[in-house]
Amino acid sequence: MYDICIIGGGASGIACAITAARNGLNCIIIEKESKLGKKIYATGNGRCNVTNHNFSNDYDLYYNSNYDEYTSFLNKLFQNGNPDKEIIDFLYSIGIVTYDIDNYVYPHSMQSSSIMWAFNDSLTKLGVKTRLKACVEKIESNDGIYIVKTQNEQFEALNVVLACGGLSYKNLGGSDKGYTLANNLNLKCTDLRPSLCGLITKEDMTGLSGVRIKSKATVFSEFNNVIAVEEGELQFTDYGVSGIMIFNLSGKIGKLLNNNQKAYIIIDFLPDISYETIYEVFNKNNHRKPKAILNSFINDKLSGYIIDNTDFNNITDNNIFNKEYISELIRSLHNFKLEIIKLRDFDNAQVTSGGVSLDIINPTDMSIKEIPGIYVTGELTDIDGICGGYNLTYAIISGIRAGKGIYDKIKSS
Ligand SMILES: Cc1cc2nc3c(=O)[nH]c(=O)nc-3n(C[C@H](O)[C@H](O)[C@H](O)COP(=O)(O)OP(=O)(O)OC[C@H]3O[C@@H](n4cnc5c(N)ncnc54)[C@H](O)[C@@H]3O)c2cc1C
Repeated sequence: MYDICIIGGGASGIACAITAARNGLNCIIIEKESKLGKKIYATGNGRCNVTNHNFSNDYDLYYNSNYDEYTSFLNKLFQNGNPDKEIIDFLYSIGIVTYDIDNYVYPHSMQSSSIMWAFNDSLTKLGVKTRLKACVEKIESNDGIYIVKTQNEQFEALNVVLACGGLSYKNLGGSDKGYTLANNLNLKCTDLRPSLCGLITKEDMTGLSGVRIKSKATVFSEFNNVIAVEEGELQFTDYGVSGIMIFNLSGKIGKLLNNNQKAYIIIDFLPDISYETIYEVFNKNNHRKPKAILNSFINDKLSGYIIDNTDFNNITDNNIFNKEYISELIRSLHNFKLEIIKLRDFDNAQVTSGGVSLDIINPTDMSIKEIPGIYVTGELTDIDGICGGYNLTYAIISGIRAGKGIYDKIKSS
């Protein structure tokens, strides 16, 4: 009989096992893939951006479907208010030294695999059992004992932690298995949406595919409300737009589309250059073609796209420096509007928005309020963060809380 059976050997399940086993508990991790932490290897482009020093007090870099008190949930979960420090200390405790680039924190090796190596060594040293290539299909309970069933085996445990992750990236372990187990336990779940993903535009962007440009993007609803603003690098693709700036907007756009509202983004390609400055460059260079002048500021393909898509009557080579026409071109540089019709699918989304409802979870130990002995951690729950290490931070800390919470409960019983 195990003290804890952890379903899912990702960041959250591993952090839970290490914490519990350090406190002397007898744990097993059941993982359906052929190795633990398959997703971790792929994080941060193989470098694993594990946390970030930029944590605001109200945790507004995280999203949730509809639970008004989710920032208070995160405040209680993060306890000491320094989640980045807690992650760095936890990694140090297993032998990983971190390295900062601006506020972004990585393992010093700049290799995700170094974290997985340390995780695996730690689990072995602590005597945590693992079963690989074993998918949990059912959880039953009998007289206060849980029976966790895979196709070929069953495991008895006093406590079960669902750390099954989300739907994103099937090839890295993403699946609906965790939601199915949660549903079978009658745990309330919210709707699921892809997040941290590219956006499919109504406009055909194939001609601009591959163009990257630093810019500022503002998301508008169909009622002209500003929903979100981000600055960063935009990448045009054959389906629309991508890049970290776009990933960070995708959660809020997904919410609009889910509510059957239209969603638009307005891109300012030159947020730091005024209309007057651009106009002066046009005026002083009227021996050049407008496309060439635009190319002083932006990529030539984008210049061509703007020229081709700026509707203006009767423009000829003779009147091309017409003031209204130039103003219209400059307007396009500052207000390039795209309609977003869809998010990319789960296989192209770094995280899943939605999941097990926070209102049924106790944030101090991730236990399910109404079902003693059942815990839910990580991406399977209804929290997702923007890019920058916030998702791993949440997965690891929620796992640590469950491991410690179960130890405290056993100790006091
Ligand atoms: C390409 C990519 C890059 C990313 N980069 C970053 C980054 O740099 N920084 C960051 O903070 N976040 C990043 N993320 C997000 C981050 O990786 C996840 O949010 C985080 O790993 C979630 O951890 P988890 O333990 O909750 O779930 P997971 O890591 O998904 O682990 C869950 C595990 O449970 C297993 N499982 C599921 N159901 C069952 C079952 N029934 N039986 C047995 N096993 C089961 C799965 O196979 C999986 O291994 C990235 C994600 C992707 C896809």
